[in-house]
Amino acid sequence: MKKSCEKERERAQTIVLLLLEQYPQAACTLTHESPWELLVGGILASQCTDERVNKVTPVLFERYPDVEHLASANRDDVEDIVRSCGLYKSKAKALVNTSMMILDRFSGQVPRTREELMELPGVGRKIANLILGDAFGFQEIVVDTHCGRISRLLGFTKAESPLKIEQDLLEVVPKDSRTLWGHLMVAHGRAICRARCRMCFSCPIRLHCHYGAALELSYDVGEDDCV
Ligand code: SF4
Repeated sequence: MKKSCEKERERAQTIVLLLLEQYPQAACTLTHESPWELLVGGILASQCTDERVNKVTPVLFERYPDVEHLASANRDDVEDIVRSCGLYKSKAKALVNTSMMILDRFSGQVPRTREELMELPGVGRKIANLILGDAFGFQEIVVDTHCGRISRLLGFTKAESPLKIEQDLLEVVPKDSRTLWGHLMVAHGRAICRARCRMCFSCPIRLHCHYGAALELSYDVGEDDCV
């Protein structure tokens, strides 16, 4: 291992520990009780908040409690239920078709490999990694907008593409914290390192962050100010 890479791994490890102290409850924020429920939530969460999805899924699961019911659902009815999540026509179609494929190809079980998951309609690499990490316990990095943005600020990647960001992060994030990394980035992106208001001077990882460490506190900037 190159010495510089070793140092970056140590820096990533330190960041994980500090953020875990700050956000001890960091975890998947989509409510689910099974891989299938997480898969449904993941499809609905595209360009929608988890909070909104968590309001819709109880209604959906009340009407269609399992993969068999959703596979034979009336598409118009599903569209009505998921309408508030946005892109409701394509999401309803993906939910019904994914359920049918799980029944036909995977004996009613959500598949456990990325390749198989990505065959399902409406499922890309991000959702596949989410299922692998949070439903099946593998260590996978989910690159959403928070994760991409903050990982760039931290200096672990310069990339814009989620796949390249994931590849860069795989080099440095501790293997046993890959799933956690995504959750910590979301928690930090909502609380302190917000897209429109970074509170760097009250950030617990500022001195380990390339962007934050380069800042100089001036008399005009308070700890809770945006920079
Ligand atoms: S120091 Fe600033 S840019 Fe870096 S992680 Fe903290 S809030 Fe984000």
